[in-house]
Amino acid sequence: MGQFPSHHKGYDFLIIGAGVIGVSIARELRRRFRGRVLVIDKESQAGLHASGRNSGVLHAGVYYKAQTLKARFCVEGNRRMKAYCLEKQLPMNTQGKVIVTKNESELKSLVELEQRSKANGVSAELVSLEQLREIEPCAKTVGQALFVKDTAVVNPQKVMEAFVADSKREGVEFAFDCSWSGFSGTNILQTTRENFLYGHVVNCAGLFADKVAHALGVGSQFKILPFRGNYYRLSPTSQVSVRGNIYPVPDLRNPFLGVHFTTRPDGEVTVGPSALPLLGREQYQGLKGASIQDTVNMVSYLALLFRKNVDHFRSFAWQEMCKMARIGFFREATDLAAGLKKKDLLPGKHAGIRAQMVNVHSAELINDFVIESGPRSTHVLNAVSPAFTCSLPFAEYVVDSIAKRND
Ligand SMILES: Cc1cc2nc3c(=O)[nH]c(=O)nc-3n(C[C@H](O)[C@H](O)[C@H](O)COP(=O)(O)OP(=O)(O)OC[C@H]3O[C@@H](n4cnc5c(N)ncnc54)[C@H](O)[C@@H]3O)c2cc1C
Repeated sequence: MGQFPSHHKGYDFLIIGAGVIGVSIARELRRRFRGRVLVIDKESQAGLHASGRNSGVLHAGVYYKAQTLKARFCVEGNRRMKAYCLEKQLPMNTQGKVIVTKNESELKSLVELEQRSKANGVSAELVSLEQLREIEPCAKTVGQALFVKDTAVVNPQKVMEAFVADSKREGVEFAFDCSWSGFSGTNILQTTRENFLYGHVVNCAGLFADKVAHALGVGSQFKILPFRGNYYRLSPTSQVSVRGNIYPVPDLRNPFLGVHFTTRPDGEVTVGPSALPLLGREQYQGLKGASIQDTVNMVSYLALLFRKNVDHFRSFAWQEMCKMARIGFFREATDLAAGLKKKDLLPGKHAGIRAQMVNVHSAELINDFVIESGPRSTHVLNAVSPAFTCSLPFAEYVVDSIAKRND
């Protein structure tokens, strides 16, 4: 460590992207190696993309198959993030969540989720309709529901602020309004502001992580397909009251969980998110953010996914298209809560975009986290949900792998 004289603007570790993953990895690197660690971000502050625009749910680990990275990190991530929020006195809703069925055929998947929970060490309990009424009086189900008491909800922006403040205190440096633009030689990172020398670069660029990796010849089979998650808000005048979270039984073949009710720590109830495939990586509204190059790429990946139809992509995409209109959202939400009226859904305050990885060889949406490495570089390539929940153990895992390679 300390291999660069300070006047050279050299860093032992350079992290691209100040989302929850980049900041957690930076802090862990600094704790472990004590060297100079710099996080760059193209925006003016941390957490302006997925990390500050998500549902804020600390997932318990119900959905993931036991051998996956998601299953490994979610249970511990949930426990540690809750402990962190308590320690820092950050607001949190700890009412848990219920997963409800809309017809009898979903009961089989509900039982499968209960078994996955057990395998992952998550406490989840099948409850009757009467028990469900005690937990979430407005939730609907057919037969049984799954109650997951460890699920919590936080304010992701507040968590990001606390993570950045801790990292700075511990010696991590940040450069904002500083966009990665390329690499040259074996250890020079180019940005829109200046060039930096690095010992090791960690790519946590979210929606742009594939571009950074490809520039170093890594992960050429992976491309990012952005999916926008729109939200509605439950009107404060609605008859429906939600204490914690009401989720549907998801289609376990696709990586998204479906429209759900989430009660944020400030009491606002969000309904969403959708998962609409986009033409631009940062297309938060309308066509703003769609570029011609992105559009050409995205159309060709989407055409590939439609043609191959792996994991019933066509029907999934169709369902999501229906949610472009409020009525589509409303239809899904009425399966979860009794007494919901169309006028109860008010436009949401923000949308978030998922950086979903596609394997262009197999035409599959990748479900688990992907970490690839190159000489002097590590690339976090599919930090999709629940990466926010998983961020603390996930960062330790990435830093362990860097440490092993530096031995
Ligand atoms: C709608 C939605 C709902 C979700 N709900 C949940 C949930 O309830 N619970 C949960 O655990 N997870 C949830 N997630 C997932 C979670 O938000 C993400 O997995 C997590 O935030 C990913 O963090 P990240 O640091 O990888 O990405 P980001 O937060 O997107 O960070 C990437 C950073 O890289 C920067 N960057 C990009 N390109 C460059 C460049 N060229 N130069 C410099 N900087 C660059 C960006 O500005 C950005 O700040 C949700 C995600 C979405 C979109």
